[in-house]
Amino acid sequence: MRKAYKFRLYPTKEQEGRIQFTVERCRLLYNRLLDERRVAYETAQTTLNYYDQANTFNERKSHIPALKQVHSQVLQDVAKRLDKAFQAFFRRVKAGEKPGYPRFKSVGRYDSFTYPQGGYWLKGSKLKLSKIGDVKIKLHRQPQGKVKTCTIIVKNGKYYACLSCEVESVQIPSCSRSVGVDLGVKHLAITSDGEFYDHPKFLRESEGKMRRKQRVVSRRKKGSHRRRKAIRELSKLHEYIANQRKDYAHKVSRKLVNKYGLIAFENLNTQGMVKNHHLAKSIVDASWNQLVKFTAYKAEEAGRGVVLVDPKNTSQLCSNCGEMVPKKLSERTHHCEHCGYVQDRDINAAKNILKRAI
Ligand SMILES: [Zn+2]
Repeated sequence: MRKAYKFRLYPTKEQEGRIQFTVERCRLLYNRLLDERRVAYETAQTTLNYYDQANTFNERKSHIPALKQVHSQVLQDVAKRLDKAFQAFFRRVKAGEKPGYPRFKSVGRYDSFTYPQGGYWLKGSKLKLSKIGDVKIKLHRQPQGKVKTCTIIVKNGKYYACLSCEVESVQIPSCSRSVGVDLGVKHLAITSDGEFYDHPKFLRESEGKMRRKQRVVSRRKKGSHRRRKAIRELSKLHEYIANQRKDYAHKVSRKLVNKYGLIAFENLNTQGMVKNHHLAKSIVDASWNQLVKFTAYKAEEAGRGVVLVDPKNTSQLCSNCGEMVPKKLSERTHHCEHCGYVQDRDINAAKNILKRAI
């Protein structure tokens, strides 16, 4: 299975320039290839595929010498990315979803490039990148397994390398315990065993900060230096929150996977709206998705199971006798008039989720 490691890079000024040059070249190429696909379709009703486009690169280089300064596999990966965007588009069309034609990438919307096979070597405290140089890397931990791809990312003026590694899955002793997990607004997760994992405090604190910074941005004049500065500050805060949230999701998912052999969540894709007044909806959504995603891949790594169940009525049914016990959102306790079962509302829901998984 694949495992991704993200490391901070500390390029010299010169290397920074070359990284930015490469990102920009890739962005322009992406847009050019996208336009060629569009034109081919509109004028000749032909669909260009990855190979049609990747095979043009040698000729392109003779017209655009700047392309020679970018590693050839990095260029090929640009065509691959575009191809993926189209595959997803075709799939959505087929499935009858809102298709969303692949879009041109403006500056800032394209912030990375990938070495799909070779062209990079990890050596000591340096990441050697073809056409870029030996870039200082901070390996806060040793990547496991064989490195398969290397993606260089530029974000908020910082540089990162994301290494995707092929690792053997490490089986931990099997475990017969299973658990249902209810995802909530008041608490991030509630288990059928009665454990609560709160949304970390910083999320609530950051929300206010974010709103203030957002207001500053909207007060500044469009195109002004001060507005750009405010936008930068806002996106730094976004990044900070995202990192904190990620750390927390890693911790909770690790606990769940170590403790249980089977973990059941609600299937979020079928979930309706979030009813909350305090945490911004996007933060809650992202936290839930992340927790489920991280738990799923940690479980896979450890040879344990994650099941997603239909969330319908999990909070309304009695987990003891199976009868419907309608209740409003404000009712925090499940009190069954059929069998007399009394339980915390969310724990009752978590128990229903578990029942559905087994
Ligand atoms: Zn009951």
